[in-house]
Amino acid sequence: TIKASIDGFPQLSDFEVKTETLSLSFGVGNKQVVLVKNLYVSIDPYQLNRMKSQSSSQTVLSFASPIIPGEAIDTYGVGRVVESDKPDFQKGDLVVGLLSWGEYTIVKEGTILNKLDPMGLPLPHHVGTLGVSGLTAYGGFFEVCKPKKGETVFVSAASGSVGCLVGQYAKLFGCYVVGCAGSQKKVDFLKEELGFDDAFNYKEETDLKSALKRYFPGGIDIYFDNVGGEMLEAAVANMNTFGRVAVCGVISEYTGNGKRAAPNMLDVLYKSITIQGFLVRNYMKLYTDFFSTTMEHLQTGKMKAPTDISWGLESVPSAFIGLFLGDNVGKKIVQIADE
Ligand code: NDP
Repeated sequence: TIKASIDGFPQLSDFEVKTETLSLSFGVGNKQVVLVKNLYVSIDPYQLNRMKSQSSSQTVLSFASPIIPGEAIDTYGVGRVVESDKPDFQKGDLVVGLLSWGEYTIVKEGTILNKLDPMGLPLPHHVGTLGVSGLTAYGGFFEVCKPKKGETVFVSAASGSVGCLVGQYAKLFGCYVVGCAGSQKKVDFLKEELGFDDAFNYKEETDLKSALKRYFPGGIDIYFDNVGGEMLEAAVANMNTFGRVAVCGVISEYTGNGKRAAPNMLDVLYKSITIQGFLVRNYMKLYTDFFSTTMEHLQTGKMKAPTDISWGLESVPSAFIGLFLGDNVGKKIVQIADE
């Protein structure tokens, strides 16, 4: 849990592990409750926006409720059923859905929970690549960016969970892809392991606009934006006519001081650029298509599913804070218990 709302950069001292005694009795009433032992839980940047104080006018979260200090924090994850009042779930079943940053989750009626068939893939793949991050990358790239073969694509936070999948979808589709990330190790990873055409460390660039000019001498057709801020401004300055910007996330502003990106609107106007925000929930209709396509790419080795796993409930706060420091490579997950 969090001890109180968090309005700046998160600190370890903002979090605490609380122990509660569960008083549940199964099989007596029809409570429609499932008790799940959490195995792998997702660590996501947007949770910070749920932790902000309500008086802070900085954030409007239309799709998730605020996190209440002292209460369990819900998150996507994979677990195993311990007890169930619902006939469709049996003790021992693997499940995927809305669990929590905790050892167990009491999943109530109406909460997303599905039985999981791992289909021969490691369980963590079902938290990120085949879960929310994957659908975000797939829906954002194909529906918002509307790519054409041969177009140039720029991806920020490219070694992160969503970014590394966007880059791979774009390469498989036939685009020219450049990513940026915050270390040389990540840059090497993008080029050598994930097949990006090029990549650069944005922290070593003094002028992002001219850096992008160097990597895209013919301009950018598509910018998949995970970070907002100055990178968005620099990308817009380098967009081609009829360029598309998919605003997936604005992580550079989640911890910040209220400073907002200010892309040059004359560029947007005269180059007829489309800047479109989107939420993964807008693209649930793509789920079946996304899942079968991605599963096939993974099984045939055309795509990789980088995951970055920490061990134990106690590591959740540092794993979460690490997202804002750029510690993770691929999908950040905490393993709560042995499979
Ligand atoms: P990542 O795995 O990409 O982790 C976050 C990464 O962001 C870090 O590793 C770091 O990498 C980079 N980063 C952190 N702080 C900054 C900063 N100040 N400036 C630039 N880069 C920074 O997270 P996700 O893949 O889960 O999420 C990526 C983005 O997508 C987030 O903005 C998130 O909120 C958003 N999102 C949106 C969804 C939607 O429905 N629209 C759904 C899911 C995620 P680096 O080394 O590059 O700095």
